[in-house]
Amino acid sequence: MNRGEREILARAAGQAMDYLAGLPRRHVGATAGADELMKLLGGPLPEHPAPPADTIDLLGRAAAEGGVVASSGPRYFGYVVGGTLPVAIAADWITTAWDQNSGIFDLGPAAATAEHIAAGWLIDLLGLPAHTSVGFPTGCAMAHLTALAAARHHVLAQAGWDMERRGLHQAPPLRILVGEQRHLTVDLALRNLGFGTDQIHVVPSDPEGRMRPDDLEHLLAAADGPAIVCAQIGDVNTGAIDPVGDICDIAHRHSAWVHVDGAFGLWAAASPTLRPLVAGTERADSWATDAHKWLNVPYDCGLVFVAHPQAHQAAMLHTRADYLPAGVPGERDPIEWVPELSRRARSLPVWAALRTLGRTGVADMIDRCCAHARSFVTQLRDLPHVRILNDAVLNQVLVRFGDDDTLTRKVIAQLQAGGVCWFGETTWDGAVAMRISVTSWRTAQADVDRTVEEIRTVLTRLTTTP
Ligand SMILES: *Cc1c(COP(=O)(O)O)cnc(C)c1O
Repeated sequence: MNRGEREILARAAGQAMDYLAGLPRRHVGATAGADELMKLLGGPLPEHPAPPADTIDLLGRAAAEGGVVASSGPRYFGYVVGGTLPVAIAADWITTAWDQNSGIFDLGPAAATAEHIAAGWLIDLLGLPAHTSVGFPTGCAMAHLTALAAARHHVLAQAGWDMERRGLHQAPPLRILVGEQRHLTVDLALRNLGFGTDQIHVVPSDPEGRMRPDDLEHLLAAADGPAIVCAQIGDVNTGAIDPVGDICDIAHRHSAWVHVDGAFGLWAAASPTLRPLVAGTERADSWATDAHKWLNVPYDCGLVFVAHPQAHQAAMLHTRADYLPAGVPGERDPIEWVPELSRRARSLPVWAALRTLGRTGVADMIDRCCAHARSFVTQLRDLPHVRILNDAVLNQVLVRFGDDDTLTRKVIAQLQAGGVCWFGETTWDGAVAMRISVTSWRTAQADVDRTVEEIRTVLTRLTTTP
């Protein structure tokens, strides 16, 4: 390695560490707009080479000038994003330096082996059936696509239809049953798999957003034929958990496949205290979750689990191209379990996080986030004008200020502008609400307390000035 190469990497590492060190003090939301950033990073395509250090320094300026959201900082509570553990960042740097095309064992034996090991650890940690197959796609949306492709294969095969040979055209009608509060990525995956909205039947939810099993039973009994049920663990607004055990029992009586969207909520299964909330989850047929949310590894890493490995494999890259080496027993090829060929070794940070945290470390991280969410509830509900809208069973809290949407919107806008913390807006039960998601390992009790103080200040200002 020449000096220039070493210098540019050290410069980037230094800049990244400075960024991380400054996270707790950053204005949490972005302050730069598209115009400023265009000016800073844009211009015509450079005609000639430039010093690489200038390019890296420009990224430093983009961060310094407010173009980066401190979503991995301790007081970002928007959406459900999660932070990144230091060891996961470090492993991600190594992943990039190794630059393995990790789809195939032969192209990256250490990466493929680490993925194989991480897959086994995850099954153990989440309490899934031992024979479950695992894939590492880019995110939960692609995990849905993978799992639902396996589901489609399986239920159509049960109906005597070879999906991979004959395609969907003229296949037996297949019904998909989804919860009222499903995530939009479930619809996205279904659309990409060739299912139209006429084939998607919505099962009503209770006020917390949980699928009603009696309505599911009713809908399933209304027609025969292959069916797939999509349940959810962890609603993005309320954190609500569908009664997955009951859903599995009902669906399986009708020979339907149960897919679980547990993008963040499935991690409750990793905590002995929370696991009872997701009892019966292990009876489902497939599960989708994210590592880049609650496991706190960098984007992009989703996880798909399928209790029918043969269906999983059949729905993916079933036949190998001539130039690909034949699989060798004991060597697991990551491509067999995802709809991609070339890919980065995104499972290495997962392996590193699990290897470092261990079973109790993961459970502590999940429990801590939930404790912080409860702390928000107990501190906020005593403030005037505040109403907590959900039963905060996990890490999600919904808050409404006053009786009209206006005050809630103003509180959110002023909190975002203040920069101490960041919350997003959502609509729940027809009204505007502020959404709190505690998903980062970095959030400490002091961050919750400081944030509550900031909310109190903003609320007082908005409700006392004429
Ligand atoms: C975030 C989320 C998704 C989508 O996950 P991506 O990783 O963004 O694709 C799906 N379902 C739920 C419940 C989520 O919270």
